[in-house]
This record gives sequence, C-alpha cells and structure tokens, in this order.
Amino acid sequence: MQFERVIRHRIAGEEVAGVSTRTAPVWDPATGERQAEVVLAESADVDAAVAAARGAFAEWSQASLSRRAKVMFAFRELLNANVGKLARIVSSEHGKVLEDAEGEVLRGLEVVEFACGIPQLLKGEYSDQVSSTVDAYSFRQPLGVCAGITPFNFPAMVPMWMHPVAIACGNTFVLKPSERDPSASNLVAELYAEAGLPAGVFNVVHGDKVAVDALLDHPEVAAVSFVGSTPIAQYVHARATEKRKRVQALGGAKNHAVVMPGADLGYAADQLSAAGFGSAGQRCMAISVTVAVGSSGDALVDEVAQRAREIKVGPGLDPGSEMGPVVTPQARERIVDYIGQGAEAGARLTVDGRELEMDGGGFWVGPTLIDQVEPEMSVYTDEIFGPVLSVVRSGSLEEAIALINANSYANGAAIFTGSGYEARRFQREVEVGMIGVNVPIPVPMAFYSFGGWKDSLFGDHHVHGPEGVRFYTRGKAITARWPASNAAGPGDAGSMNFPTSN
Ligand code: NAD
Repeated sequence: MQFERVIRHRIAGEEVAGVSTRTAPVWDPATGERQAEVVLAESADVDAAVAAARGAFAEWSQASLSRRAKVMFAFRELLNANVGKLARIVSSEHGKVLEDAEGEVLRGLEVVEFACGIPQLLKGEYSDQVSSTVDAYSFRQPLGVCAGITPFNFPAMVPMWMHPVAIACGNTFVLKPSERDPSASNLVAELYAEAGLPAGVFNVVHGDKVAVDALLDHPEVAAVSFVGSTPIAQYVHARATEKRKRVQALGGAKNHAVVMPGADLGYAADQLSAAGFGSAGQRCMAISVTVAVGSSGDALVDEVAQRAREIKVGPGLDPGSEMGPVVTPQARERIVDYIGQGAEAGARLTVDGRELEMDGGGFWVGPTLIDQVEPEMSVYTDEIFGPVLSVVRSGSLEEAIALINANSYANGAAIFTGSGYEARRFQREVEVGMIGVNVPIPVPMAFYSFGGWKDSLFGDHHVHGPEGVRFYTRGKAITARWPASNAAGPGDAGSMNFPTSN
C-alpha cells in the first residue's frame, strides 16, 4: 500500500531516500489509521550519514565559540517561533495532548538555551607558575561524530537533551529517532539549517535495529547517547563500549511516590493523577506506584479514583482532551494484558481503564487505578508504560524507602509530606537519581543533569547540564615552559630524573 507522505532521512541538509526498501507505518493513534510511512535505513544509509558528519567535523570543531553560540541563539529563536508547529507534529504521531506536546518542546528549548552559554561552559582551568617558568592548564575538546538513539515518548525533547549540547561543544551529530514518531526530527533538521548550521553537522537517519547496530559498530562514531527501555539500553551500552565508544544509555523506570499521613491529601491526589495519567502514562518520569503510608491509604485511593474517573480522554489535537491514546496497537495490547494480570493476582481494580469506550478506531486505554498491589505482582515489578497507577500500602517511611531501594529501576521518586524531617530523610536515603519533594515529576532543569541510577542508566554520565558538556568533550592538560630565552637557565637544564616542581 502506498502512502501520500513518506518520511525520509535528512543527511547533509538534504532529504535522502536512501538505499532501503523497508518502511514502517506511522500511526495516527487517535484514529488507528496509518498516516505515513517512514523509511528504515540499511547500514549503507548510516554510513552516508556518518560520512557527512565526519566531513563536517573538521570545519565545525574549529568554529569559534562565538560562532557556535550565534548558531545556537538563531536556532533557539527559530525553535521558539515553531513551538506550535512542532507540538502539532508530536501530538499527531505520538497521541499526547497538544498542550503537553508544547510543554515537551519548551523543555527541549531550555536545553538549547543552556547550550547558548557554551563559551562560558567550556572555560578551562589555569595554574600560573606551577614550577619555575612553568604554567599548567586544561581545556576540553569535542569527540567527533556523536550518535543519538531516542525513544517514542518525547520525540522532540529527548533528542534535544543531546544534540544542542553535543553540537555546541563542537561535535557533529547523527540522530536516529524512534520510527514510531519520526517527523519532529526532520523539522528540527530544517530549523538548524535555517539557523546557519553548516550542512552535515546535524543529520537524521530513520530506522530500526539495523540502523542502531550500524551506528553502534561504526568506527567513526565516537560516542553514543541512548534513551529507551532497559533491555535495549543495556544492549546498546554493552555493544558500543565493546567498540570502545563513550556511551550513556538511559533505560526504563518504575517511579514511586510516597504519601505520608501528614501530607495534604487533596494536593497529593491532584499531583498523582496528573503524574500517573498525563501523556497516558508514557513518560519515563511518570508516577507508576503510589506508596500510601499508614492511615492515609483509603482516603488517598478515593481521592485519586475520583480524579481518574473525571479525566477527559480524547484525541490529542482536540482542545478539550486531557489525556490522549497510547502510541500503537501493540502498546495498548501490552497495557491491557498487564491490567488483567494485576486483577488475576488479587489486586483491586478501583478504576478499570479497559472499560473506556471511544468512538471509531484508535489505541485507547482509560486511566486505571489498581489498589492493594503487592511487590511480587507483575503490575509492580514491570514497567507498564501506560495510564496505570498502582497503590502499595506501607506501614512506615522506613518500609517505603526499603521498597523503593529494592527495586532495580531508579529513575525518579517523590515524597508528599508536610514534614521537613521526612523529606530530608527521604532525599538522603533513597537510591534513585532524581527526587521530588511535593513535586511528582522532578525532571531537572536544563542547567542540571538528568539521569537515573541502577537499571535506569548504563554509563557514567547523565544527560544535559554540566554532565552533558563533560560527556561530549574530553579533557586535555597542558604543561608549558616559557623560559627567558631558549638557552636553559638555572633549574631549566634537562634532567634524567622524573620532573618535579622547583
Ligand atoms: P525502545 O527501547 O523500544 O526504543 C528506543 C530506541 O531503540 C528506538 O530508537 C528504537 O528504534 C531502538 N530499538 C528498539 N529495539 C531495538 C533493538 N532490539 N535493537 C536496537 N535498537 C532498538 O523504547 P521506546 O518504547 O521507544 O520508549 C519507551 C521506553 O523508553 C520506556 O522504557 C521508557 O521508560 C524509556 N525512557 C527512558 C527515559 C529516561 O530518561 N530514562 C526517557 C524516555 C523514555
């Protein structure tokens, strides 16, 4: 079947069909119809993108800091002018509601704004007179061609965690976005070109595992940033480090929110239903487990259930919608299956999203609240990645912290409390990368770094912020002597011994 719209690679500033004849459907999740097809790269297409990036590196890595900053400022302005357009593209392919899609574009924009400060961020260190007539200093240099491999759930923001920082640091970039919602990346490539970024510095290759493997194995790719599910993150990390690349691979999540008896329950219920069901639960920082401590449990479940039933579910582009569909038919099937497993295992389906009835096609699951969940149930152990919020009852803060620390995922965690003591204890003792105190989705600002611990991150660097700059650069330390003349003075005569300061 032929589609009107075909989404192709963008290499060296051009739209490129590539050698592959393989394609994948791009759905409209709200209607269940295929709206386009995306080409899937073969390794020859990846070779072409990497060659373009490698070719552009020589010039771009030598561009002055102020030139790089100017391009970023221009890109920032164009992005800002296109927030609405980009958000509509995201909403139409992902399914999330338009306002939520605008939010993701704006959070990505903040990383671009961070990258505009690259002259400040790349300041080195200098030590005068570390020895007689000797100075020591250090600076950081770009790596070369960097690759980004990204998930479907934030098709604009997650790639922007990577490429603005990489490019501002003087690298060139090949992005392999999710094949499920690929169009946003092509618009970003057009905006970079309009901003004056030389051709080849930013390239987009569409594809699946074939493209990913070609990037991981390519000798000219110096670094790989990956965001996606844990099994693939682990695979990407192992394969690319074996090829001696620098790798940061962010994986899946099971984020807990602990609600203490002294918390404002109405506030907590508002926040939990927004964080559990927003974007149909397809956020790596979504709250998927509420840990109700002590006496607050029953009242909290009633409050969240009431809100869950009131959420307006509908097409993402419909201004009345608060929650859209899930991304694919397979995602819907998986989520529905997990809800069934929870019920069979003895948990209580307080609100059952499988009962949602919508007109027409589309991949719909309503907000689902499952109470009395036990830690051995699959709804607790597995990442469902849908609008499903589990409630585990707990006797104390200690027990709640122990539960979170026993979980292999460690992306985000939140506490709702009126006690500074409880909050402080929680933030210090929980073994998780990002913590919210009365904040359900604690995504760090662009000038901090984003990343989890344990099975939520393979590699040593978080993304964007200062760790992003470190990831995309390598350090060089210089020791320099400038004696009064080339003739050796006192203490400057060559020595057979290991140099020490004098
Ligand atoms: P995914 O792992 O299926 O896909 C991510 C990327 O890997 C895509 O570009 C995809 O084409 C590629 N890929 C898929 N299968 C592959 C394979 N077998 N070999 C090589 N490459 C492969 O993830 P997704 O479904 O697109 O996104 C949802 C997942 O991403 C969830 O697990 C979510 O928690 C996670 N996520 C994590 C973060 C974070 O910051 N930790 C952020 C966003 C999403």
